[in-house]
Amino acid sequence: MIINNIEDGSLPDYLIIGGGPAGITLATQLASKDKNILLIEAGGLEFDEKVQSHYKGEVVGDKYYDLDVTRLRYLGGSSNHWGGNCAPLDEYDLKNWPISYNELKNFEIDAKKILNIKNEFIKYEKSIFNSFDLSSIEDGYVNFKDKYLDQIKDSKNINLLLNSSVLSFQPDKTGSRVEYLNIIINENLKKIKLSSHNKVILACGGIENSRILLWSRELYKGNFLEGLPIGKYWMEHPSGEIGHFISEKNKVESVFKKKNYFLVPSKKFLENEKLNNVRFSIQFWEKTGNETFKHFVKDLVCIAPHFGKKIIESLSNNVVHCLSAIKFSIEQKPDIENSVNLSKSSLDKYDIPRIQLKWNIKDDVFFSLKKSLEKLGQESIEKNIGRVGVDRFVYDQSFKNSKDIFANHHHMGGTIMSKGRDGVVDQDLKVKNVSNLYVIGSSVFPSGGHFNPTFTIIQLTLRLAKHLTT
Ligand SMILES: Cc1cc2nc3c(=O)[nH]c(=O)nc-3n(C[C@H](O)[C@H](O)[C@H](O)COP(=O)(O)OP(=O)(O)OC[C@H]3O[C@@H](n4cnc5c(N)ncnc54)[C@H](O)[C@@H]3O)c2cc1C
Repeated sequence: MIINNIEDGSLPDYLIIGGGPAGITLATQLASKDKNILLIEAGGLEFDEKVQSHYKGEVVGDKYYDLDVTRLRYLGGSSNHWGGNCAPLDEYDLKNWPISYNELKNFEIDAKKILNIKNEFIKYEKSIFNSFDLSSIEDGYVNFKDKYLDQIKDSKNINLLLNSSVLSFQPDKTGSRVEYLNIIINENLKKIKLSSHNKVILACGGIENSRILLWSRELYKGNFLEGLPIGKYWMEHPSGEIGHFISEKNKVESVFKKKNYFLVPSKKFLENEKLNNVRFSIQFWEKTGNETFKHFVKDLVCIAPHFGKKIIESLSNNVVHCLSAIKFSIEQKPDIENSVNLSKSSLDKYDIPRIQLKWNIKDDVFFSLKKSLEKLGQESIEKNIGRVGVDRFVYDQSFKNSKDIFANHHHMGGTIMSKGRDGVVDQDLKVKNVSNLYVIGSSVFPSGGHFNPTFTIIQLTLRLAKHLTT
């Protein structure tokens, strides 16, 4: 049900902060096990400019989306405007995760149900190329507010508190337990005392999770959260257009087989070359008479005279050939300099420092793109598919000066998971050295592959629900 206030002493066992895909999934899963939950959401049921403005911040480094545009602060979170593209990460992506591929795979069927996905995911299906296989992405478009609001309203186990922002966690004297939540309810600051049975789960998204922990540490210092790499190793999926394929349309289409299939480097090629995982897709440009096309055909005649001549001849006979953009999405290696930080000069309405996000695309990305596109070009010639043109910015990194943004709204890292000392949460997503605080969302990913993150977030959330109830 929806409630308007909370009092000390009346708190249920589980306090979930953030009502996006992660928070809503965890709440409904725990409720299905007859657990009682308080779900605290900063926004209301609809977009509100004032609430959204808490997400403003600064980006230092490569061009990125405004931080109040790349996420949404109301019930349902960013699922109110996401694309719904879903796929589980590959085994290759989980090499440095403290949990195994199969541990996540166990939750694939239930995650598909939550995301209304009926088809099987295709992984590494053989393609025409030797070094590239095919993997699929499925449409899992679910607006979590629309799907779950009635269920939450009717639930006797879930209390949903809207328009209430958690500002920080105050620890007990030892710094090993959260003792108070500092929270704004109905525009008033409240300090809510937790009991020994309360567990707090932070589910505020891939930037805000770090912000709340960073601010809590700054306020209370001492042992609390001391030494943890909070905000560090933040990652995106650099993405965009990276080259072009010149060929006949049906030849290129036959490479991809289906619209939702992507070319991915084979496991052998990835491992041998030590590449970041990546996927390529094609966008066809059907127009043949414009300047861009002429320019490419001219280039083509220079670099591949026989093939270029063939295209020009067939054009004059009115046979349609295609020129198509190659699009990519690539893994970004965790890098300590890419990080979520607290601004030193800018505060929000509640006097909490805004975010300063430091983000740069580094050499690992360019190296992997270069290697894989050159291989794709080479095998396209060998298999008589066509020619691959690689944009110059892969070689000279000049897209850093471009007006385009090469990113995907995928916010990963910042509260990464590890077994050792280098993470913020352990393999059960509990904050290290704090007994009653957990984090869920893509901020816990120690690496992010190239697939969109939400399917994995849902798998991890199901795993956390199981852990909290067994
Ligand atoms: C334009 C766009 C397109 C996208 N497309 C895709 C896609 O195709 N596939 C894919 O996998 N992913 C996509 N994503 C990413 C996807 O939306 C996120 O991975 C997903 O929403 C993360 O879920 P979450 O619950 O962890 O966080 P969020 O969705 O960010 O939810 C966090 C919730 O916490 C609340 N909150 C924040 N701070 C506080 C606070 N202090 N107190 C209380 N509550 C708080 C927020 O209001 C929000 O409801 C896209 C994102 C965008 C912006």
